[in-house]
Amino acid sequence: MNYAIPAPATPVIPVAGSDAFFPVRRIFCIGRNYAEHAKEMGAVADRAQPMFFCKPADAIVAGDDVDVPYPVATQDLHHEVEMVVALARGGSDIAAGQALDHVFGYGVGLDLTRRDLQAAAKAKGHPWDVAKAFDHSAPVSRLHPAAAIGHPASARLTLHVNDELRQETDIATMIFPVAAIVHELSRLWTLAPGDLIYTGTPAGVAALRPGDRFVARLGDLAALQGRIC
Ligand code: MN
Repeated sequence: MNYAIPAPATPVIPVAGSDAFFPVRRIFCIGRNYAEHAKEMGAVADRAQPMFFCKPADAIVAGDDVDVPYPVATQDLHHEVEMVVALARGGSDIAAGQALDHVFGYGVGLDLTRRDLQAAAKAKGHPWDVAKAFDHSAPVSRLHPAAAIGHPASARLTLHVNDELRQETDIATMIFPVAAIVHELSRLWTLAPGDLIYTGTPAGVAALRPGDRFVARLGDLAALQGRIC
């Protein structure tokens, strides 16, 4: 292939128990997937219709211990700890009953948010891209293949910042569980291998500042630590 400019590198995530890397195609995110978080944002979770947004694949910052630069253009960077699902297979109109067969594996990540820009966007009825889809906005742990850990329906999802517990839930309390999210996304996009899904955050979102250390955990299945710098 004779590219007009050098082709950009494919963002990748290391795979646990292997020297392989998972290539990231797209990042889909679901909003308001835990009732208490919707409430703390002054919203009501819609149990009939999920709300989706996207981040660019190169927002990924992947590893076991990551440095995340404090983003430009905000005074209010927020953490949102989330279980992350990686797809090995794609398709459209995927039945919920078959959805988990499309999953490669699971990790834990942060849906970093420029909350002040999001509030301004909401007030004007503008899209959320400037609040959600910025550079380095998607830290994520190593991926753990479903072939090794299965498909967790229940696990404790936590975020500690500077050793203080900020967010805690069980993924069993998601309004749209993983199979439902895959089903709903596949009615809106033709999903593809390499797609990543951030499955929503529980209550307790708050500010991160330069120098903060964070540890995100999905039970004993996945962990991500890092630093805002
Ligand atoms: Mn989120």
